[in-house]
Amino acid sequence: MDSSAQEAAKMASHFIPTCWLCDKAISLESCSVDEYGKGVHEECYAAKLARRNTNPGIREKEERAWELCALANNEQDRQKLLAHMQEIRQLLEETKRPKYSGSPPADS
Ligand SMILES: [Zn+2]
Repeated sequence: MDSSAQEAAKMASHFIPTCWLCDKAISLESCSVDEYGKGVHEECYAAKLARRNTNPGIREKEERAWELCALANNEQDRQKLLAHMQEIRQLLEETKRPKYSGSPPADS
């Protein structure tokens, strides 16, 4: 069995740059790096910063999510790993989704 080829394929897929904000591949021209060292599109990053300005809780959630990512990387227990992944997903969803901060659009 040739496991080195499998290993190489795994490595390669790990390094295909995708934007963690929109999950799409990043071309070299539009590649940017956010403050966590994660690859993002320039425009996605700009949109993220704009959202953060209107919702200060986002930064906290992001930091918690990356903390959990580090934990998940070292987690041997499958149940705990799944729990981490779920929380990470939820946190990132919350940072991506625009939220009303209590004041609905005043137009009536
Ligand atoms: Zn993107």
